[in-house]
Amino acid sequence: MNNKLALVLVDGMAAYSEPALVQLFAAFKDGRLLRYPVNAAVPTLSYPNYATIISGEDPDLHGLKDNADRRRLKESHVMRGIVQQGGVVGTVAFSWWKDLVGEVGPGRFYEAEDTPDEWVFQQAEELVVQHNPDFLLIHPMGVDWAGHCFGGSSPNYLLAVGAMDALINNFWLWWREHTGGMLMVGADHGMGPGHMHDGNGPLERQIVYYLDVNGRSAPQAPINQRDIRRVIETLMGLGD
Ligand SMILES: [Zn+2]
Repeated sequence: MNNKLALVLVDGMAAYSEPALVQLFAAFKDGRLLRYPVNAAVPTLSYPNYATIISGEDPDLHGLKDNADRRRLKESHVMRGIVQQGGVVGTVAFSWWKDLVGEVGPGRFYEAEDTPDEWVFQQAEELVVQHNPDFLLIHPMGVDWAGHCFGGSSPNYLLAVGAMDALINNFWLWWREHTGGMLMVGADHGMGPGHMHDGNGPLERQIVYYLDVNGRSAPQAPINQRDIRRVIETLMGLGD
């Protein structure tokens, strides 16, 4: 595969936190990143939303509607598709991803939601050096954790998003230099009033995806979370 893609899926990063994404937003203004407002699927819960991102189906179709119901995703999904076409899928993510997709390739999983985001990105770089993945999922939880502990309107939450912005920007430069690959940055859901998310409100549903196509053609814009699978497949040149 010639078109490598890293997806940084920031857990719980709401669209309204975008002012804290100083470097990514500057890159969008400079024309170095594309930017798409996207609606998260409902319920705005992590496990159902992960399943929607990779399967391209809403929870009513893929059937996973609760974080407590962590069955393996039965539907076809983009990570399995890449492996079936001879690609390598690397994953550095919260352990729920292992429940969702099983072992699809080299992976490093963490159990604690307050695992430092720096560790997650370090592991991702090590994994790239060791395994040279075609598709790399990096899934940090620090922003979601700050939202649950302190609330989406707290300074702590925006500080976590700001720290994430710096980590992503550093990784982006490293990834381009080492692989010539593309980058997608997005979220599973936002953060609602209070310290929770699961509902249908705009604070929970409105998220933003950024994309560095690295010289390749821009895809048809995603509107809903179920469109992300198609964007990944288009960018990586995967037919179905
Ligand atoms: Zn989540």
